[in-house]
Amino acid sequence: MSKILFSVCLAGFSLFALEGKAQQDPYEQTRKLMVRQQIESRDIHSKSVLDAMRSVPRHRFVPANYQSEAYRDGPLPIGYGQTISQPYIVAYMTELIGPEPGFKVLEIGTGSGYQAAVLAEIVDSVYTIEIVEELGQSAAELLRDLHYDNVRVKIADGYYGWEKAGPFDAIVVTAAADFIPPPLIQQLKEGGRMVIPVGSPFQVQQLKLVEKKNQQVRTENLLPVRFVPFTREND
Ligand code: SAH
Repeated sequence: MSKILFSVCLAGFSLFALEGKAQQDPYEQTRKLMVRQQIESRDIHSKSVLDAMRSVPRHRFVPANYQSEAYRDGPLPIGYGQTISQPYIVAYMTELIGPEPGFKVLEIGTGSGYQAAVLAEIVDSVYTIEIVEELGQSAAELLRDLHYDNVRVKIADGYYGWEKAGPFDAIVVTAAADFIPPPLIQQLKEGGRMVIPVGSPFQVQQLKLVEKKNQQVRTENLLPVRFVPFTREND
């Protein structure tokens, strides 16, 4: 009798636990499906990247009226003429830098804060710079609410990087520049990798991988992409 009662209690408890979890994150299943269908099924196999994509609540990083579309296979508007990148592109760029737990990473173009959160799941510390004050502030607030305590947000022109915090193991640029800003190359550690879209705003740009090795800088074109423009303070 007590055995039956015990298992009934246990079932009741696990149902309760499940319900509580679903209430906490109603998009958990959708997010797992996103990772399976849009990311794993393409060419992303790094466990830490896939785990990070399964963990970060992407719906929290989009405006309320887009929450139900947060896990779609595409970019979404985040206000101020800016966008949050397609999930696959975020995973691809993250995998490209070969993130390791001890890394210090610089991101240019905080936007919603989503890419910074994905990086923060994997690496030791993330420094991210946003030029639009309102976006930088709300991203900083959200990252704080979600306890991403290893992310620091600065409102500035990312062209100059974050010299005091550098050099960085890796740099991720999420806005398309006409050329690779020299200060960013300088702030990349020897052996470090940078991923950056290069090209003019209204044309297809090239996502480039930049590697600094033996004091030399090697760049490689990876794939055609379309990012919002890298703007400058006086634009
Ligand atoms: N990584 C973002 C995507 C942001 S879109 C995310 O995960 O949501 C690119 C962002 O780069 C925009 O928010 C834009 O305002 C910002 N940006 C453009 N030029 C910049 C510059 N010079 N310095 C810093 N941020 C810049």
